[in-house]
Amino acid sequence: MTPLYRRIAAQIEATGPISVAEYMALCLFDPDHGYYTTREPFGADGDFVTAPEISQMFGELVAVWLVTAWRSIGAPLPVTVAEVGPGRGTLMRDIVRAVRRIAPDWQDGAAFALVEASPRLAAIQRLTLKNAGVSLSWHDDLDTLPDTPLLIVGNELLDALPFRQFAFQDGVWSERAIGLEEDGKLRFVLKPGAFDLSLLPSAQPVEEGSVFEISPARSAFMQRVCERLAEHGGAGIFFDYGHLCTGFGDTFQAVRRHVYEDVLQNPGEADLTSHVDFAVLDRIARACGLATSTATQGDFLFGMGIIERAGRLGATEGAEQREAIRAAVERLVGPDMMGTLFKVLMIAPRGTGTLPPAPWVQP
Ligand code: SAH
Repeated sequence: MTPLYRRIAAQIEATGPISVAEYMALCLFDPDHGYYTTREPFGADGDFVTAPEISQMFGELVAVWLVTAWRSIGAPLPVTVAEVGPGRGTLMRDIVRAVRRIAPDWQDGAAFALVEASPRLAAIQRLTLKNAGVSLSWHDDLDTLPDTPLLIVGNELLDALPFRQFAFQDGVWSERAIGLEEDGKLRFVLKPGAFDLSLLPSAQPVEEGSVFEISPARSAFMQRVCERLAEHGGAGIFFDYGHLCTGFGDTFQAVRRHVYEDVLQNPGEADLTSHVDFAVLDRIARACGLATSTATQGDFLFGMGIIERAGRLGATEGAEQREAIRAAVERLVGPDMMGTLFKVLMIAPRGTGTLPPAPWVQP
């Protein structure tokens, strides 16, 4: 039993079952035992590997998108380039390096900002970026970002924000919550709970046992980002695993040491996530008067020229390194790897031409 397990069990004993959202917030961000506050999640020695950790090409192509977006909104300066949930800081490091080459006109007018909820990870990001040679600032919330046009990025951030689950059983919707077995083990229970039924997918029938997920935290985050973009100008790009159409299903998952495990087994010691419903976030951006475009990560990276970039990178390398670059491309865009499961949501002001249509956008 992890220390957090005992704390959560004691809390449930005292006050009753806790929602999936409460459980997730405790597991990921408890100051003493939370996953992001105390552990090293990333890389081969950690629990999972993210796109920027696979290859510098990911950050370079994101940088190309950001600079293209910036030019098409009239190249405003000053501009703030922000990343939310930067993990080890690898994506930001690659973005900074790339924009110094492709957008030298940012030299004096661009400030780079990192929005990070975990003080431990913010310290690691400072180390990664210590020689970046650009203006950098750290924020624990979006509120303190400068009021300039904003270019904002997030990779595998949204999946880490808490979500709620509802189950349709015996003809009614109830909230899935975490309670206790007789022997003190954590287990899923149902408790009364309501949500806005208009959010349900219209094309799929509700069946006995259907599970439906909502994430008010994700929606609130997207609303705040989009209000900023609408007010101050700018563009945003968010990558995550998830679906482009709302659907049913239990997508709560725990990953530890690159292996899936029971979400209730090791609270605080496994990464907890759920799939992102991009349809909901897309609607929020549009309601703020912004234009959006969605694509799979594979289509996005192909469209941005990952094959050409890989060719350039490999041109001066030996056979072994060329094979490593090829394998990285395969991981990022392969349909059975990250290419299809991962999606991207691009947000920009209407009519700016920052959101190229085909071949990115699947019909
Ligand atoms: N983007 C990185 C890390 C993804 S892991 C990569 O691709 O490698 C999720 C990151 O989001 C972690 O840095 C975590 O601490 C951060 N995070 C989670 N919730 C957050 C929130 N509400 N605000 C800011 N950062 C958050």
